Amino acid sequence: MGQRKGYKQTQEHKDKISNSRKKFLIDNPNAGFQKDNDYCRNFAGKRHTEETKKKISEDRKVNNPMFNPETCLKMAETRVKTEVNKGDKHYNWKGGITPINKQIRESREYKAWRKSVFERDKYICQECGAKSCEGNTVYLNAHHIKPFAIFIDLRFDIDNGITLCRKCHSKKPKGEEIYKIKYE
Ligand SMILES: [Zn+2]
Repeated sequence: MGQRKGYKQTQEHKDKISNSRKKFLIDNPNAGFQKDNDYCRNFAGKRHTEETKKKISEDRKVNNPMFNPETCLKMAETRVKTEVNKGDKHYNWKGGITPINKQIRESREYKAWRKSVFERDKYICQECGAKSCEGNTVYLNAHHIKPFAIFIDLRFDIDNGITLCRKCHSKKPKGEEIYKIKYE
């Protein structure tokens, strides 16, 4: 490495060593070496006066950004911006789960749920009463009353399903749309 070549102790470094020695002596008054240096003679046993304490406290307030109203405001703004970014991330995430939703909708469990809903409703649209008959095919959907995307536990709950014809179903906001309205 060789960085010690020509190394010269900076004043700061010297002070650091000196301060840590002083601290050591305060913490260990019986350490028994350099006990008689000026520092110990002058400071040992003395305590900060109330005024000094107050001054230290004031200095801290000045130097501490948390006490600076401008900084506080900036931090609040940053928090708001972060929330907005979270929203963006949230939409990315939603995009990410779409294939999963598709997978679920194609799953055996989902198909079984849909069939149960249709059977319970006798393959009749629960909104307009449409049903398939000879020469007229009505396409039915098993609609999630509580959105599929939010109420994960109710995805396969028959009570959360309702049979709707395609037309009536298209009038219902889709789960993801409700989700957007709710969280946008
Ligand atoms: Zn209908």
